[in-house]
Amino acid sequence: MQQFGIDIEKEVLEEALKRYDAFDDPSNPVPLSKIEDDCFVCELYHSPTRAFKDMALQPFGYVLSKLAQKRGEHYLIMAVTSGDTGPATLETFKDQEGVQVACLYPEGGTSDVQRLQMVTEDAANLKVIGVKGNFDDTQNMLKELLASEEFKAELAERNIKLSAANSVNFGRIIFQIIYHIHAYLELLRKNEIRMGEKIYLVVPSGNFGNALGAYYAKKAGLPIEKILISSNSNNILTDLITTGSYDLTSHTLIQTESPAMDILKSSNVERIFCDKFGPTRTKELMNALESEGKYQLTSEELASLARRF
Ligand SMILES: *Cc1c(COP(=O)(O)O)cnc(C)c1O
Repeated sequence: MQQFGIDIEKEVLEEALKRYDAFDDPSNPVPLSKIEDDCFVCELYHSPTRAFKDMALQPFGYVLSKLAQKRGEHYLIMAVTSGDTGPATLETFKDQEGVQVACLYPEGGTSDVQRLQMVTEDAANLKVIGVKGNFDDTQNMLKELLASEEFKAELAERNIKLSAANSVNFGRIIFQIIYHIHAYLELLRKNEIRMGEKIYLVVPSGNFGNALGAYYAKKAGLPIEKILISSNSNNILTDLITTGSYDLTSHTLIQTESPAMDILKSSNVERIFCDKFGPTRTKELMNALESEGKYQLTSEELASLARRF
């Protein structure tokens, strides 16, 4: 955390990490289980809401609320969810001082259990709103609000600052680096690998936050051979990594049994591009996506992307 130059006191961070004590087994919050000889699962769901989103949102919620209290500030946290982020966000911020949450979800786009997890949360600082549209529509609304000067001015008048609970918020990504490193260390502790031995990380992806965490873990030195991205039938990321083409116009969102991955506009891909190709080229690609609904990487760019993914 300190390597990222984040201005958070050590004590606050330590308290934040204690949130993992509320997981099923505080001494082993993220068990690594063996499937077969060389295949393991990092079980990220032994958490308060059963969504792996708790991994990042639990400590992040604590840190943000502490910051608000210390600075005497009030935050409005906006979240959009296709099912898992919502319950995890509401759970981490409920009754936390200095923070209010407004959570948007696509009506019909989440499971019933997830909808109930959200609409039955009972705390004065939480608000849950169903949106008529799919996840991408809902996320677009959030992004527009976050960028809106008018909205920010109105909040400023009431002395409220705006923040996001989704992985568009980098604070969340930081906590998503840790468990990839943890998984590697568990493999070492169990004598399944030697120090320095490379592993493949298989990451189910939607908004690419989890994969981005793995990317940074690799950049920080974790011996990862490749990050394998898995998609459901909304496989726009598969296209990107195999052909270099990102084309919204040739895909329509399909509702599947894994709604957390029913995403076509994958937010964090932009961060990978920015890191690899620089801000100018990234803006060019993102502008093309906005105006034409698609972009195409050059063969060099594709090769560079496919080396990691
Ligand atoms: C959030 C989520 C994903 C997608 O993760 P990203 O970081 O957005 O790529 C996949 N599966 C489940 C169960 C999730 O909760």
